[in-house]
Amino acid sequence: MVTLQEKRDQPNGWNRGVVMLLLGVWLLPVVAQKLEFTLHKNRGEQPGPTLLVIGGIQGDEPGGFNAAALLVTNYHITRGQVWVVPNLNFESIIQRSRGVYGDMNRKFLSLKQADPEYGPIQKIKSIILDPQVDMILNLHDGGGFYVPTYRDRNANPDHWGQSVIIDQASVDNIAYGNLQEIATTSITQANQQITPSDHHYHLRNTQTRLGNQEMEKTLSYFAVRNGKSAFGIEASKEFLTHERVRFHLLLVEGFMRQLGIGFSRDFDLTPQSIRQRIDNNVQLALFGRRIFFDMANARKLLSFVPLKKDVPLDIQPSNPLIAVIDKEKNLDVRYGNRYVTQLRTYFTEYDDSLNEVNIVKDGQPITSKLGSVIEVQDSFRVEASPGYRVNVIGYQRAANNDDGHVTLRRRDLLPQYSVDKQARLYRVEIYRAARFCGMLLVRFANSPAGVAPPFTQNTTNTNNT
Ligand SMILES: [Zn+2]
Repeated sequence: MVTLQEKRDQPNGWNRGVVMLLLGVWLLPVVAQKLEFTLHKNRGEQPGPTLLVIGGIQGDEPGGFNAAALLVTNYHITRGQVWVVPNLNFESIIQRSRGVYGDMNRKFLSLKQADPEYGPIQKIKSIILDPQVDMILNLHDGGGFYVPTYRDRNANPDHWGQSVIIDQASVDNIAYGNLQEIATTSITQANQQITPSDHHYHLRNTQTRLGNQEMEKTLSYFAVRNGKSAFGIEASKEFLTHERVRFHLLLVEGFMRQLGIGFSRDFDLTPQSIRQRIDNNVQLALFGRRIFFDMANARKLLSFVPLKKDVPLDIQPSNPLIAVIDKEKNLDVRYGNRYVTQLRTYFTEYDDSLNEVNIVKDGQPITSKLGSVIEVQDSFRVEASPGYRVNVIGYQRAANNDDGHVTLRRRDLLPQYSVDKQARLYRVEIYRAARFCGMLLVRFANSPAGVAPPFTQNTTNTNNT
């Protein structure tokens, strides 16, 4: 019911406009994490050439940036180096936009200092020009199918999908300067694993030097005119993301082999296993893993997440495409073009006296570090030391307000409090008096194969390079 007084206080049209404007400004997300691109240097034990792979120059091309991210998280390099910038236009990736500040891949010929992307462009240019870098691959998703002669509306010389792009046939006086030959070899190798032949890759030479004014402005031509071996790889937007990723990786591996880069990966190049790697690689640690969430299949909202008071947010994502966006009291978690979840947070004091906790898992005593995931068949019991209190989220707790020393099964927990939509993953928090010590996750059996890849290593933020 609206009282007369309240009615009078409601803003008139003009006022309401101002209020909406203010609200609009107020609700603009404040970024908890600076959305700057990251450079990941994956070094082999044995020395060898260095390949630089770039993804996400345009924010709406998930095949390219997910392929690049997998190179960071799921490849092991044994010889040579693979440097990866998987998120060059990170803000546009998170905003699901081709380019929040225009097309970033047209800013490499000349750019005003006032351009919001002037800083990142200078940074990526200096990485490209690093004397160690022998070859550059820029991963894109393009429309339709590129074929040299007109086939139909969707497959003709005006399209970009399923092509490897070079600006010219060769670059003189550099290693790996025979661009056409190298690209053709990668294409031939990849096509052997691509059916039907309608989906095959083709070489596209844009002849940029001969007056292609659009291509002149691109990253790859910046590299080429500075004496670098550079290629664009396009997967067709006709395919689903994980299918595009497979095409990208088939091509990238062909270039790696030609460079003599040694590598292995922990998955098969099938669409299914690629999809599984992409979907499951969504973990977020906060404050040195005192808070840790596996967010594969997470619920849209996770409540009562205790953040450390009076310190900056300390975030460690498992994947360079994860961003945490501060919305006043809440944190939105995004992963590439995907919305993951929202953390409803509150601020509290932390206690750092505890690093691990004793647990009886399916009848067996174990010791678990805070921030780990415990796989449980049937039951678990947290045996916290005296002075520490246990809170199992979703358990209607014991009268003494402590869920420690109680054997719990899946049926004892309220499904709506689980982290995941399948109601198998639950949070266990430990407190010392009112202070938060940390949390663990307990996953009951039959959960979807949860693969927790190692946290990214050899990671250098571009600020440090
Ligand atoms: Zn593109």
